Amino acid sequence: MKFVINKPDTEWEKNLTPQQFYILRRKGTDLPGTGKYTYHFEEGIYRCAGCGAPLFKSVNKYDSHCGWPSFDDAIPGAVVMQPDYSHNMIRTEILCTTCGGHLGHIFDDGPRETTGKRYCVNSTSLKFDKSGL
Ligand SMILES: [Zn+2]
Repeated sequence: MKFVINKPDTEWEKNLTPQQFYILRRKGTDLPGTGKYTYHFEEGIYRCAGCGAPLFKSVNKYDSHCGWPSFDDAIPGAVVMQPDYSHNMIRTEILCTTCGGHLGHIFDDGPRETTGKRYCVNSTSLKFDKSGL
């Protein structure tokens, strides 16, 4: 997959915290219930912690009780998906379209009254922007 921003890991390591590097560039996962945005419901937008691109709007955030921030939709074009066969599971990974940073996974158990999708995202992959609406 090709991304707008292509930087070697050595460059990312300079600009990210060790936890951000682990999640975004090594496809890590926040421990459930630990992320700072899991129970965060202010109005604004959530940007990519790696490159700052706007990814999700607060209106699409909902409490899924899964332990990670959950959204029923992403900003159009902001995320791309690819199959993920790691950990003996078949899942669909979501990545930042701009920098290829790992965000989380998408599942089909979201709210049925809207999209039916659950974008399950690591808090570490996100940066909340209150002014960004
Ligand atoms: Zn990004």
